[in-house]
Amino acid sequence: MSLALYGIGVSKGVAIGNVYIISHEPLEISEYCLSEEHLGEEVARFETALAVASEQLRHIRDRVPTDRTVDIAAFIDAHLLMLEDGLLTKAPIDLIYEHQCNAEWALKMQCENLVQRFEAIEDPYLQARKEDVKHVVTRIQRILRGSPDPTFDFAEANLANTIILADDLSPADTILMQHHGITAFATEYGGVTSHTAILARSLGIPAIVGLRRARPYIQPNEIVIVDGTRGVILANPDQRTLSDYRRQQKEDKSYRTGLIKTKSVPAKTLNGTPISLHVNIEFPEDMPAVERVGGQGIGLYRTEFLFMNRQEPPDEEEHLDAYKRVIQALKGKPVTIRTLDLGADKQVVDSRFHEGSIVTNPALGLRAVRLCLKEQQLFKPQLRAILRASALGKVQMMIPMVCELSEILQVKKIIAEIRTELRQKSLEFDPNMPFGIMVEVPAMAICTDLIVPYIDFLSIGTNDLIQYTLAIDRSDEAVNYLYNPSHPAVLRLIKMSLEAANKANKPISMCGEMASDSRYVRLLLGLGLRSFSVNPESYLEIKQIINDSNINGLKHFTKKILETNSQDDIAELLEAMNA
Ligand code: PEP
Ligand code: MG
Repeated sequence: MSLALYGIGVSKGVAIGNVYIISHEPLEISEYCLSEEHLGEEVARFETALAVASEQLRHIRDRVPTDRTVDIAAFIDAHLLMLEDGLLTKAPIDLIYEHQCNAEWALKMQCENLVQRFEAIEDPYLQARKEDVKHVVTRIQRILRGSPDPTFDFAEANLANTIILADDLSPADTILMQHHGITAFATEYGGVTSHTAILARSLGIPAIVGLRRARPYIQPNEIVIVDGTRGVILANPDQRTLSDYRRQQKEDKSYRTGLIKTKSVPAKTLNGTPISLHVNIEFPEDMPAVERVGGQGIGLYRTEFLFMNRQEPPDEEEHLDAYKRVIQALKGKPVTIRTLDLGADKQVVDSRFHEGSIVTNPALGLRAVRLCLKEQQLFKPQLRAILRASALGKVQMMIPMVCELSEILQVKKIIAEIRTELRQKSLEFDPNMPFGIMVEVPAMAICTDLIVPYIDFLSIGTNDLIQYTLAIDRSDEAVNYLYNPSHPAVLRLIKMSLEAANKANKPISMCGEMASDSRYVRLLLGLGLRSFSVNPESYLEIKQIINDSNINGLKHFTKKILETNSQDDIAELLEAMNA
């Protein structure tokens, strides 16, 4: 019998294929006491498990694809080194003898000790190493328990043409999977604008989040249909359903192929208003997708992905190398490089195993520019590299999560110091490189008029603006029902910011996902937006809508929507506007 499970569709389209199930749930470890004569056997069991863990890791490392975006081999090498370190090889043996306990329990105790030590270190990179310890310990414990490793081993599994069903996927996991030819993602947790959902959209594959408790109902390897448009996953589909969806896949494909004709025409409304239409990217490797759609430039380059799945933060040269690759591929078109926005759901390493360490509201915490100003050793190499990149092409620098003027002034002060250093070293940079900020904290939308004298441009980040305005965690599916780009409060903030920037003659764009959503393009045009930055997969569709729109006819609807309280009425007005 076929079964339909409902979640939230976050990336449109249909995928049909075998499912690969991933679980990150921690192992339940219990303690049991051993008599003295069995302790030697327990130690031998532990040592065998260590050898098997090394063997597994070497096997994975040898099969790692050469991938320039993440240094996976170095990641695994670090785990291998831990397997040779007395803290993980000798200390648990001492604990087995001391407590007369099983090896799994001894490892658990030792892991807790090590995690505590890492937590006491101030350096966030060294602190993050505790995640590696937990990964290695879990691997040994699974071997000891004889439990199959359901955790995703990115290099071990052949994932081409499979559909991933997971409890949750961090952006770091999603990056590791992106070159494996996966056809869809489905997760039990996660929100519409979680970074994993954004990555799925930019890969152009269907995705569903919030499929609560789906895994018990779906067998590994079973054929499933993922309908990312309706947010439904169908397990064990009958022949009729399968052929219906195959037909739909064909129609989608021919619709997408049809859009290619808009590639060569400029983005311009029916009444002749030119619209600037840029692309959002995460990696230099995204550039072929930008070329495919004929992007006018990069409106948002999210550089934090350069920091994920690795041991050390990138140095200045590595930053510069990545930026050079983007600049070269752009052949004179502009790029807005956003400084790193780590924190909240974008952690350098997988942070799901943070037992005991509680960051109550990570999205309101030390994130983006706040983290950069605190940890300047992460920030300065990037600023230097962006400045040096500005000598090579049309580069703008953008700062995320700004919430008050002092942050802008502090960043500018550091930039001024770096400029002096670069001059002293005769390193080139563009002294007029535009400097801008993201409008993604409501305070900045409300105060755009006060901030514009200090910056050259702005870009509205609706993903966070909606999260902070409506007080809903963007990666929590439990409050997804409240995620609403057309909420009057959100629209009023956008309008306020657009008007203040226009009045001051400062360019303002939108790079949040709302700009990539076909349902809101006309509303945004009606609100006065003239510059969009969208994911590559949506680019041609958004251009088509712009080119089919007459701004004069939109103002009346926009005004009415701004004055409407009921969501049903807003939905009706939007439908009429888009008809
Ligand atoms: C946003 O918040 O809208 C945005 C573009 O930034 P990010 O999604 O990377 O937080
Ligand atoms: Mg943001």
